[in-house]
Amino acid sequence: MSQRTPSIAIIGAGLSGLACARALTQAGLRFTIYEAGAAVGGRVRSDVVDGFTLDRGFQVLLPSYPEARRVLDYDGLKLCPFYRGADLFYKGRFHRLSDPFTHPRDAIKHARDPFVSWMDKWYTLVLRKEVLTTRKIERRIPEIETEDYLRDFGFSEEFIDRFFRAFFGGVFLEKDLRTSARMFLFLYSMFSTGGAAIPAHGMQAIPDQLAISLPPGSLKLNTPVTSVRAGEITLTSGEVVHADHIIVAVSEEVAARLIPEAMGEKLLPARSTTCLYFTTDQPVPETPTIYLDGDGRGPVNSACVLSKISPRYAPEGQHLISASVIGSPSSGELEGVVRDQMAAWFGESAYLWNHLRSYQIRHALPEGRQLRLGEGPLGAVLAPGLYRCGDWCEDASINGALISGRRAAEAVQGALG
Ligand SMILES: Cc1cc2nc3c(=O)[nH]c(=O)nc-3n(C[C@H](O)[C@H](O)[C@H](O)COP(=O)(O)OP(=O)(O)OC[C@H]3O[C@@H](n4cnc5c(N)ncnc54)[C@H](O)[C@@H]3O)c2cc1C
Repeated sequence: MSQRTPSIAIIGAGLSGLACARALTQAGLRFTIYEAGAAVGGRVRSDVVDGFTLDRGFQVLLPSYPEARRVLDYDGLKLCPFYRGADLFYKGRFHRLSDPFTHPRDAIKHARDPFVSWMDKWYTLVLRKEVLTTRKIERRIPEIETEDYLRDFGFSEEFIDRFFRAFFGGVFLEKDLRTSARMFLFLYSMFSTGGAAIPAHGMQAIPDQLAISLPPGSLKLNTPVTSVRAGEITLTSGEVVHADHIIVAVSEEVAARLIPEAMGEKLLPARSTTCLYFTTDQPVPETPTIYLDGDGRGPVNSACVLSKISPRYAPEGQHLISASVIGSPSSGELEGVVRDQMAAWFGESAYLWNHLRSYQIRHALPEGRQLRLGEGPLGAVLAPGLYRCGDWCEDASINGALISGRRAAEAVQGALG
């Protein structure tokens, strides 16, 4: 007697859905992905406008992410690294902080800048040693907020305000540093070991690389799912698709709509960000670094000359500058205020930059006060035949999304025996 092959449906082709698909493919299982958008990637998408590559919101890959190293082909992505450090604008000028292990000369050159006290420099090195020598340090501390952790560690209020609020505020998309200290320690170890990078042709190269190995016909783009029930999903066309195993690989907000009964916990508001892109053919700062708002005045928290990190982000002779704002302020006055701030940072020529496009991303990151520390494949199972994955199931990062996708695939494999 012949047996029917169990059917598997994945809803969403963001990084978690693609990582799930990859693991299922490796296990020899067949599936169909239903993706609402016109391309894969979800929150990791890029547009090409007038020859410039615009990521939908400034974001970076930390090459040390363990799951990303397992899953992605870094050579294929042609990763372009950032300078290991940051330039902080404080009281009218930039102050450079350099990683002494990667840029020892710069670190010595700027060591006497009183912007950072000797005690804070010392604590920075101690913290670095701790995260590098304590395996899975994030699992060894209680669940507390990052700000409390930094204070307890010994950092001064000045350094927390000038550096951590700007740098990690930009990573967490919140400047109160309420995010779990476990997440902070994980990221601190990732930055300390591998810094940050972007693929030469834009962040979209990451999901595109994962999608290359999808079996032909397994991806259905422009196909939003409107409802999910045990054993079946409904598409906007009204078509009902039966599936033995359904993996919901969408953001937390969409999951709360599609599978409200399975969500359990109260949905906390997501974190948002706004990214303005400017172009110019005039000279721009040379260092491939991130420029941060050490004053905390805003609205721009960080800026970057992306074409200095990867020249392919802009046509020859042109430059692409991103200016990132935490939150989603109304756009009316924003461009003018951002220009004023950029002119204060980089000079009057910023008033001549061409504003190419802005992206307002309301649901950029899930609220991350608690870090779900790898519940394993079982954490992915919502009900028999129903699974979840996504950054909100693990941690709010590219790494977390990739892990959660693999775990959901392992849970399906487990159910199939
Ligand atoms: C601006 C920004 C900056 C970031 N910066 C960083 C960073 O520097 N480093 C880092 O590690 N992480 C960063 N992140 C986080 C990281 O991008 C995300 O954690 C990760 O991409 C989430 O992937 P996901 O698969 O969980 O969800 P998503 O990417 O949201 O994927 C969900 C997919 O489901 C699809 N979908 C939604 N509804 C439906 C439906 N009804 N039917 C079918 N399909 C549907 C969506 O179109 C999408 O493709 C950033 C995110 C943003 C937005």
